[in-house]
Amino acid sequence: MTRAVIAFGANLGDREATIASATRALAETPGVQLVAVSPVYETAAIKHSGVDPVAPGYLNGVVIVETALAPLDLLDVLQAVEAENGRVRTEHWGDRTLDLDLIDFGGVVSADERLELPHPRAWQRAFVLQPWLDVDPDAVLPGRGTIAELRRVAHDEVVRR
Ligand code: ATP
Ligand code: CA
Ligand code: CA
Repeated sequence: MTRAVIAFGANLGDREATIASATRALAETPGVQLVAVSPVYETAAIKHSGVDPVAPGYLNGVVIVETALAPLDLLDVLQAVEAENGRVRTEHWGDRTLDLDLIDFGGVVSADERLELPHPRAWQRAFVLQPWLDVDPDAVLPGRGTIAELRRVAHDEVVRR
């Protein structure tokens, strides 16, 4: 079994309902057991040009699981759950009903373009680090350091729901 950290984000539709449905789907997936679900944070949409004050805001958080699945099989599950929850892939960083990112998979490091581990941008995102810190204060991001220190210097704003 491997401990994996999954980040969720939703900024379209009924965000709470989508997050609840996605969490349930993960819990019901064979070979996946829920260990922890973080508090949820309200955050601003970020586009390539920076914070987008016009786009609907996100609800973000993380889920920690124990899994018997291989990393790419877990990614397949995440993408299937996104699709079931109405995710439509348009522009990169576009608005979406649900985004599920694999942040850490048991400390594995991978440069595979389909699955980079740890997630290459998680280290600088308070909307990932803060909820992760809430449920696992001693966590470390391979190659980046403790999430407590990374959270301290991340500057995007997160507001606890
Ligand atoms: P970001 O990755 O910056 O958070 P995003 O979540 O909006 O942006 P997507 O459009 O959801 O990006 O995903 C693009 C591709 O990223 C996916 O098709 C997937 O194969 C790939 N990918 C690479 N590494 C990961 C990872 N650790 N978790 C999820 N997807 C990943
Ligand atoms: Ca993402
Ligand atoms: Ca994604």
